[in-house]
Amino acid sequence: MAESATTVSRVKLHNMEFTPYLSAAELEVAIARVAGEIDAKYAGQRPLFLGVLNGAFFFAAELMKRLDTECEISFIKVASYLGTSSSGSVTQLIGLTERIEGRHVVIVEDIVDTGGTIAHIMEELAERHPASVAVAALLFKPDAYERQYPIDHVAVRIPNVFVVGSGLDHDGLGRNLPGIWRILEPTS
Ligand code: 5GP
Repeated sequence: MAESATTVSRVKLHNMEFTPYLSAAELEVAIARVAGEIDAKYAGQRPLFLGVLNGAFFFAAELMKRLDTECEISFIKVASYLGTSSSGSVTQLIGLTERIEGRHVVIVEDIVDTGGTIAHIMEELAERHPASVAVAALLFKPDAYERQYPIDHVAVRIPNVFVVGSGLDHDGLGRNLPGIWRILEPTS
């Protein structure tokens, strides 16, 4: 029988090796705390959660099942493509079909790194005049963050290392790994 993913100390995805960093149980505790924060803040306001695909599917599901407050959820995607102008890469928000005017919106992200993605989403949403926009992130790298938007609800703060698992991938692989795994530094 194959060794359980929870007992192995290394996993190889494409050309990179990863080692366990946060257990599934540690994530559960942190997500439950975030759910409590959100329940306390949005009681009676019917917030709209917007999960950012692909990575946030895990966190969105784990968060939603722990929320008591009446709420809705939908999913969006941020697509990057090369524009024709000299500005290079252009980002586009796709899949937002709900009217968000006057609503309390919570963006649900897998990880906030430099903050470029979150800043873009915030700017696009602001044009649609929501009552408020907050961010809930499974992971946040404060040392890498370059923007001013507050990351309101964070399950776990991590150092500036590349991680996979629980929705996060390395070139398509690793989203199904339990917990969070960090990249192994080359030893030579
Ligand atoms: P940003 O720099 O815009 O905050 O992060 C953009 C995106 O980069 C994240 O949504 C995520 O898809 C990806 N990303 C950033 N850091 C990591 C990481 O450590 N692991 C993985 N798998 N993706 C990351």
